[in-house]
Amino acid sequence: MRNTIVAGNWKMNASKDAVKSLVNGILSGMGDVSAEVLVCAPFPYLSQVETLISGSSLMLGAQNLNVNVSGAFTGEVSAEMIKDFGAKHVIVGHSERRSLYGETSEIVAKKTKAAIDSGLTPLLCIGESLDQRESGNTEAVISEQLTTVVRLTGIEAFKNIIIAYEPVWAIGTGMTATPEQAQAVHMFIRNLLASSNQDIAEKTPILYGGSMNAGNALELISCPDIDGGLIGGAALKAEDFLQICKAG
Ligand code: PEP
Repeated sequence: MRNTIVAGNWKMNASKDAVKSLVNGILSGMGDVSAEVLVCAPFPYLSQVETLISGSSLMLGAQNLNVNVSGAFTGEVSAEMIKDFGAKHVIVGHSERRSLYGETSEIVAKKTKAAIDSGLTPLLCIGESLDQRESGNTEAVISEQLTTVVRLTGIEAFKNIIIAYEPVWAIGTGMTATPEQAQAVHMFIRNLLASSNQDIAEKTPILYGGSMNAGNALELISCPDIDGGLIGGAALKAEDFLQICKAG
């Protein structure tokens, strides 16, 4: 039995006032939520969120990390720094980082390993573009993105990894994958893990991300291999986010 996990990815959207009302709004509705819930904040707001969520079940994550522990890497943030603010999770391999910042599967694998080595749980994002789906390459793309990580970290590391299947064409577009489309890829991912280790495959949480909202969350999360959601746009309004959390 896998727990349901709902994670908010705020991306580069925040201000001190907005963070205060969003987090307080989420906290006020957490009593009815049985899913594990976390919010991934931009770096400057980690400290503020750490304070706001203190004593609650809401968890904190970051959206990126540098693979090095410390040193001359101007502008970068390490896993240890993220942990210093009470964060337990970090997003790695989001499609925006792959496409806008040139993060290859090898870089994503190194970031995944750096997160695990420091005790953070990575939310490893994988997913195909529309071109890749339409040319019948979804499984090949998913396989390359996932096996590159498995090769570097080893399958045992997946005891501490959350996978997020995020079809790039569904992110921020309002074009959600149908439950059938999403379930098919989630099952493919689980089978891929099972080819290395059946037990780990059964226990690894695989979240869906891509225009999940209050209206479609229940149908998606009800699929047998969908264990929750990674939420972008709908994570910026407490009421919408809470409805997704309750669906979980
Ligand atoms: C995301 O950025 O991870 C995401 C899923 O965004 P959205 O929910 O806005 O599609």
